[in-house]
Amino acid sequence: MRSTNDQSPEQACEAFVEWLDRRVVAAGRGDGLERLEVAPAGTFWLGRLACEDEVRKGAGDERSERLDPCAIGIRLRPASGPPWSMTVTVRSRAWVQDPKDGPVPDKRWWRTDLVEEHVSVLTGTRGGAFGAKELADAFALVGAPGLTAEVRVDVEDWHQQTELVVQLVNTSPEKAKGLTDSHLYETQIEISGLMTVPFQLEALPDSFRYDRAVPAYGVNVGIDVPKPGVFRTSDTVSVQTHRPDYWNSAREKPDLSFATLATNPLPQLAALLDALAAYDDAHWSSAALDARQTADGWTAMMRAEADRSAAEVFAELDRLQNGLELMRTRSEILRAFQLMNEAIGLSARGYTDWRPFQIGFLLSTIRFLAEPEEEARYVDTVWFATGGGKTETYLGLLLTAAFFDRLTGKVLGVTAWSRFPLRLLSLQQTQRFADALAAAEVVRKERGVGGSEFSLGFLVGQGGTPNKIVPRPENDEDVTPASPGMPGKYQVLLRCPFCRDENLQMYFDRQRWKLEHRCTNPTCRMHRRALPVYVVDQEVFRFLPTVVVGTLDKAASIGLQQAMRGLVGPPQKVCSVPWHGFTYAERWKTPNGCLVPDCQGGPVLKPLPMDARRFAPSLRLQDELHLLRDSLGAVDSHYESLLDHLQSELCGSQTKIVASSATLTGYDRQVDVLYRRQGRVFPQPGPRPGESFWTVPAKQPLRRFVAVAPRGVTLEHVSDRTLDTLQHCIRDLLKDPTMVCAEAGVDPRHADMLISQYGTNVVYGTTLYDVEAAGRSLGSNNTVDGINVEQLTGQTDFDEVRGILERLEHPEDDFDERVHVVAASSMLSHGVDVERLNTMVMLGLPLTTAEFIQTTARVGRRHPGLVYVLHKIGRERDAQTFRHFGPYVRQGDRFVDAIPITRRSRRVLDLTIAGVVAARILMLLEPASRQRLSTPSRLRDYARNAGLIPAQEAATVAEVLGLDGAEDTLHKQQILDWLKAWFADLEDPTTKARFISELGPNPPMRSLRDVEATAPIHD
Ligand SMILES: [Zn+2]
Ligand SMILES: [Zn+2]
Repeated sequence: MRSTNDQSPEQACEAFVEWLDRRVVAAGRGDGLERLEVAPAGTFWLGRLACEDEVRKGAGDERSERLDPCAIGIRLRPASGPPWSMTVTVRSRAWVQDPKDGPVPDKRWWRTDLVEEHVSVLTGTRGGAFGAKELADAFALVGAPGLTAEVRVDVEDWHQQTELVVQLVNTSPEKAKGLTDSHLYETQIEISGLMTVPFQLEALPDSFRYDRAVPAYGVNVGIDVPKPGVFRTSDTVSVQTHRPDYWNSAREKPDLSFATLATNPLPQLAALLDALAAYDDAHWSSAALDARQTADGWTAMMRAEADRSAAEVFAELDRLQNGLELMRTRSEILRAFQLMNEAIGLSARGYTDWRPFQIGFLLSTIRFLAEPEEEARYVDTVWFATGGGKTETYLGLLLTAAFFDRLTGKVLGVTAWSRFPLRLLSLQQTQRFADALAAAEVVRKERGVGGSEFSLGFLVGQGGTPNKIVPRPENDEDVTPASPGMPGKYQVLLRCPFCRDENLQMYFDRQRWKLEHRCTNPTCRMHRRALPVYVVDQEVFRFLPTVVVGTLDKAASIGLQQAMRGLVGPPQKVCSVPWHGFTYAERWKTPNGCLVPDCQGGPVLKPLPMDARRFAPSLRLQDELHLLRDSLGAVDSHYESLLDHLQSELCGSQTKIVASSATLTGYDRQVDVLYRRQGRVFPQPGPRPGESFWTVPAKQPLRRFVAVAPRGVTLEHVSDRTLDTLQHCIRDLLKDPTMVCAEAGVDPRHADMLISQYGTNVVYGTTLYDVEAAGRSLGSNNTVDGINVEQLTGQTDFDEVRGILERLEHPEDDFDERVHVVAASSMLSHGVDVERLNTMVMLGLPLTTAEFIQTTARVGRRHPGLVYVLHKIGRERDAQTFRHFGPYVRQGDRFVDAIPITRRSRRVLDLTIAGVVAARILMLLEPASRQRLSTPSRLRDYARNAGLIPAQEAATVAEVLGLDGAEDTLHKQQILDWLKAWFADLEDPTTKARFISELGPNPPMRSLRDVEATAPIHD
């Protein structure tokens, strides 16, 4: 064995992961065991083969054959015509049960020696069966008489090229005298001596970038090619990925540290772009493409595709160079960039430099500060197929914009509204935003940048934080200062963003009517003061924090409350009472427009302290763009248009939209549908898969993906046994480090680190049902005592999530008290960043490849990860993916299906018209009318005097939604019909509606989630 002296922690992890995988596979197959108490057929899930008779008698379809197959095999393309000859080596064992009075009464099952036979095959076009006699003899010889098997060769000549399917089939009788178990175990075949040609992977389109050659396909197994011309079956399919390097140039990497970029950025940025220009020229010039075309035999179509890609690459280079030029010539942009770097330098813990692609994205986008109108026409999407750092990239952009705003006279108000889909905004992500803004605030003060304090708002949908806090409850949902759990229950931050102390205290300030996070650390600059964070909706509206993070569904509020106006334009005035903040429409509960209950400030309000037009946010961010699909995408497309319309009417401007996406396929169409803007993506994909100027795979292992197709037992059983084995391994290491370290090839000084890094397993289910079942069954099915299971799903309460994250990040000293297994749903896949999560068991493939990519990215953040993907092999999609598992993992982004989205769904239009009409009244008509239009009677009078008619309003709504073209006749009619009904209600003096939102066929949506998110929709 290799010496473990001088082993680095990384090497120890690598060796340990290999050992864990060996143990799991052994547990699945039964290797190494001598005797068993229970029947092997109910236990093992790998390597076993049922007998053909039994499988035939079962349901007999392809699906059930996959669940408990009677054969494994290899599909090949012979290089020449018949006859074909080859050697097929068959390996297998059997399990035999002793009689009751056998030698070991409590463990009656025993495992035979290995059967290994080299079967010679010579076949013509009709195929045949080989080796039956020698295999039967071999089984008898090891003590399992009655078991039989054969090598069966099928010739399929109806394909374009002839294919051979070589299988090991268990031909044993279901029952025979002396036969205690008709299964074969630990089966494997190996083929040698046949010349073959590769397949072309049909699931991937022909492209100049990808090598689609596949040497052979497995039948119910994976295929290894230990050396050219030798094909061997494997029970699992393992794919190792590697950590990327973020510099792929022969030139010296420029200094992209926060410190240097805060002081003297231009020379370093110039060096970065020079290196990029040289790379692009070397890989994408006509000469470079000519050479590849010749060498790789590209077709004319492949060359045309390469030429198109090259044009995009050079356009990207131009954009980056323009960005640098702007920094050279526009002093406020340069200064904003420098201040941002200083702030990120302060807030980033554990790293000091940008990755080059992060700076690349900032340079490619920064023009929106100089030419907002021109640049608002594009949505810049940052594409993260590999590697992390997305949130930091956003933060760099946000802080640059925030400083730029302050430097150019926007002294307060919202710079950016950052939206995450539904419940996918995590507390950890929110904390990173708070940390960055706190650092920016420190820098702002120290550098004498004017304007108000930088602050963060938290605006999330149902079940998060309260919309408002009232003095007296009127219904069950109302939160008062005395409600149970108040104020501690609504703690959002995990620690003080200024000093990182975790002892925060929640406090409700009755005088200011504010729910506050306070820092209790006496040495903190914010000691006992309210941190600049607003988590109650109404406080967000009252104070309009610099950055608002929230969930997408909140956009629906734009049709429900006028105070949302601060997110698209100016509020109305400022209350005369200190700390009451901005005011909005007058209502009977808010007679002067101030949102503080029982405000005594009176009707005299202060004017806005800044040009009203500058209240519009500069940026709207959309995280996980690819999730905006189906009905949710359709609904959001209407609300995005509404936001654009309101901002344009109120401020005469368009906001810049920036998004992130895990997928590239069809993003341009998606952006066009959602935002009616042109799409631009950064970075452009490189000349070869997984490799560009910005990233290149390095030697360090990232994740080992292991595809498992369970045989004969349930997925839950396999999941339980896998987790059980992983927990066994860790406990063995704990109990006997010397023995385990020797076996695993690990230096014992790393044992504690390994116990911490690999002692918590994630089990991931795509449905809540799966997650809950996994959590429950593990409690009852394991052989290890005292496995502590915690759940992280969309149903888990805020403070519980906070508690679990805390335990994961700072594990208990005593291993027995730690969290051992986290049962999680997709809630985990977004923004949960815990270094200690390095092993995962996935229960079936997620619905989309994007989810697969994102979910598995949660493990192996810093250390080598291990992911078991248990396929629901009865499902066609899982079976397909098992077959292509290597390319699926390595070229996952190519498998991502185009995103189904349309804005022309009439069902969705029915839901959204009401919001558009209501928002226009609340945000535009009412303020312009200088009177209250909150009740039908007031609005009726106003509508009469102003001459509002259905046809005119319908035309406006159609235009807002982009449904006013010649092809939209039906949509236009639908909108007009809706408005006619609404006006009829309005004109009816006996209407029962008390509020304007009650007029018309249906009220405005309360949440964008009111539509079933994944229901398919049609134009
Ligand atoms: Zn503090
Ligand atoms: Zn007030």
